This record gives sequence, C-alpha cells and structure tokens, in this order.
Amino acid sequence: MTDKITAVKGMNDIVAPDSAHWEWLEARVREWFARYGYRNIRTPIVEPLALFVRGLGEVTDIVEKEMYAFEDRLNGEQLALRPEGTAGVVRAVVEHSLLYDGPKRLYYMGPMFRHERPQRGRYRQFHQIGVEALGLAGPEADAELIAMAADLWRELGLQDVTLEINTLGQPPERQAHRQALITYFEQHRDQLDADAQRRLYTNPLRILDTKNPAMQALVEGAPRLLDHLGSGSLAHFDTVRRLLDAMGIAYRVNPRLVRGLDYYHHTVFEFVTQSLGAQGTVCAGGRYDGLTAEVGGKSAPGVGWAMGVERVLELLKTQQRLPSVPVPDAYAIVPDAAAWPQVMPVLRVLRAAGVSVLMHASGPDGLGSMKSQFKKADASGARFALIFGGDELAAGQVAIKPLRAGADGTVGAQTTRPLARVADWASELRAPSTPRTAA
Ligand code: ATP
Ligand code: MG
Repeated sequence: MTDKITAVKGMNDIVAPDSAHWEWLEARVREWFARYGYRNIRTPIVEPLALFVRGLGEVTDIVEKEMYAFEDRLNGEQLALRPEGTAGVVRAVVEHSLLYDGPKRLYYMGPMFRHERPQRGRYRQFHQIGVEALGLAGPEADAELIAMAADLWRELGLQDVTLEINTLGQPPERQAHRQALITYFEQHRDQLDADAQRRLYTNPLRILDTKNPAMQALVEGAPRLLDHLGSGSLAHFDTVRRLLDAMGIAYRVNPRLVRGLDYYHHTVFEFVTQSLGAQGTVCAGGRYDGLTAEVGGKSAPGVGWAMGVERVLELLKTQQRLPSVPVPDAYAIVPDAAAWPQVMPVLRVLRAAGVSVLMHASGPDGLGSMKSQFKKADASGARFALIFGGDELAAGQVAIKPLRAGADGTVGAQTTRPLARVADWASELRAPSTPRTAA
C-alpha cells in the first residue's frame, strides 16, 4: 500500500449527518433571503490577485498574511483563492454593468480561503453566506440588511447573539482621525506591541482592534473617530440607529469596532456570541461605498454582510437547534438477485410518486441474509421495509412491514400490496411532515 493521502490542513470534509445540517441551513437561509428580494450570484473561486490587494487594502491581515496567492504555471498570471466574497461580487457587478437598470440585492454561498492557524471556528477553507445590496445609498438599506440578519437568527432559533455597530465615517474624516491616532500613539510609543509598532504608520486604525490585554488601557484613551465625523456621517449613523430602535432591534455602539478591511465606509457591524469561545463573531459587515471605484467601476454605494457558516452551525449545535436528519420512507429488501427485474421498475414508480426508497444492493459478499438486510433497513431509519420475497413476487405482491412504532406505541402489522397498482398505494409510504432521526 502506498501512503495515505489526507486533506490539506485546515480544510474539512463535510460528511453525513453534518452535511444534512448544512443543506438544511442553506435552504432556510435561501428562503429567508427571497423574502427580501435577494437573488443568487455565483462568482469564481479564483480571481486576479490584484482584485483583493486593491479591494481589501494592502495593509490588511488578509492581504498581508492570509491569502492563498499563486502564479498560474501555464501563463504566469497572478491569481488568488478568494478570501472573502464581496470583492468578487463587486467585480462581477461592474464587469457586467448590473446596476444599469437599478440597484441589485444579491446573495452568495460558498467556500473562502485564508491561511490562518486552524482552531475551533477558524479554518483555512471555510464557508460564508453573504448578501450585498448595491446601488443603495441611504441608511435604510443598512438598517434593512442588519434586520435581515437579526431576524434570521430568530428564524433559525439561534440565541445569545448580540449586535454591535459603529460608523467609520467617510475617507476625509478617517484621514483626520488617522492623523490624530498617529500623534497619540507616537506619544505612547513605549506601550505599543510589535504588531502596533508595525501598523503605526500603515494602518493605525487597526491598532484599536488589538486583542493584547496590555494595550487595552492605551486603546481606551485613543482619539475617537466619532469626534472627527461631519454632520453628514453623523446623520447617516443616527438614522441607522433610529431605524433599528423603531424595529426593536437591540444593539450596542462599539467605538472600537473597526473591521479588518479598508473598503468600509459609514456603518459597520458584527453579530457576536459568548458561546463559541474566542471565535465569537458569527456575522460581520458594513457599508463599502468606495469599493466599486476601487475595482475600476463607476462609483456606486454598497452595503453587505457575511456569516461564517461553520460558526453558525456550531452555535446551533451547542444550542441544540439542529433538526433531526431526514430518513428514507422505505428500505427495499431483496433476498434473491433473480428478483431485480421485478424490483427495480417498482422502485422507479414509487420514487416518481414522491416516496424515498433505499434499495438494498449486494456488497463484496453478495446480497447477505434476510436477517442482515433487516438490520440494515432498521439502521437506515426507514419507516417501512418493502420485502420483495420469492413467494410475494410469485403472487404479484410486495410485503410492507412497518419498522417503527406509531403514535400509540405499537408497530403495525405486515401487509401486502399489488405490484401492478403501485401508484394506488405509494402515498401510504410517504413521510409525515416531521422527519425522524436515523439510528
Ligand atoms: P475574525 O476576526 O474572526 O478573524 P474576520 O473579521 O476576519 O473575523 P470577516 O472577514 O468579516 O472575518 O468574515 C465574516 C465572517 O466569516 C466572520 O465573522 C466569521 O464568522 C467567518 N470567518 C472569517 N474567517 C474565518 C475562518 N478562518 N474560519 C471560519 N470562519 C471564518
Ligand atoms: Mg480574520
């Protein structure tokens, strides 16, 4: 045997039953987005490296140290695996002039890639579900988008998620604040850690985001962006807050919330939980009015958010909010291979009638005994066994054996049904609306 090949570190296979929870979440979220008029967009996983360097900013964690960037061996192009979804969506919107007939509300789902230290809630391939509203400039778009997330948690039964918001103002205001920050931190240079030293002139705003406990007091006393905002920016933020208040959506203004990416303007927000340890941000976003111009398009406003699917699922799991995994309606037991020509057409009719049937099939050691087939039927979670035995088939029948107890606690008796009129009795096998869990 040769060496076993394993998955790349920090990149996970998602297998059953977990994959069923992923599908469930995706379906629920899709349905939720449709209620707000959002439509799906699918962009490539590989993009030109320049898109992220320009879009996210050169001095961001992602671009500095987390990006899977590489050269295409065949033509020398500089490419990258997407570390987030917004830049690609904005590129596509610009490239196809999607805003020509008005604003667009878009959503995506898919894998993102960042070369980080893998730990609980932090992977190198992880998944985001994100929304972007493009061409909408007013604060009501920010508020609607935040409400869409807040109410999604309620729809999913998720608890212990709180909203933090802040404003980053507009570029000239940030410039003034940046200068004030540099002056302040220069005066306290001895208290800066290595990371902060490095960022002092490149991205001083990010120093406010430090997780170093030794620097908390220093950061608390730093000049606040809020004090540099003009009336336009203050009014935008104020309206967002008033609309959240009007909708009864609780939030905390966190002046330290700066977000990692350069492209944000005005509103930024995060939904955080205390239940997931250090990786507590489940969803994050904000307004990014400068991004379309950054990727070469006509300036257009945008606002969006992305949730970390792994973190949301982990939280749902901790809070026991994940649904039970769906099981097949029936398991087809086939004692003798001679029966296949009769069995398989019947199963087709059942499936066409909406019944889910798991067909027993031979393994390396053949079909196996009736007893072992029944064991498999039981383990599948199916509610019925369909027994295609020789005697039944000879009589033009299939035997139906209930495998689970009904509401009264008893298991029903075995019956037979005619093979010639499958469509007449197929519905008897169909699942009730509540799914069950496999053994
Ligand atoms: P963090 O501060 O946790 O590194 P971030 O600010 O880098 O997060 P964003 O770029 O805002 O994260 O991505 C949005 C969401 O995607 C995050 O809130 C989180 O739920 C999820 N996420 C980000 N990076 C990872 C990762 N490496 N593994 C799993 N989920 C992630
Ligand atoms: Mg990060």
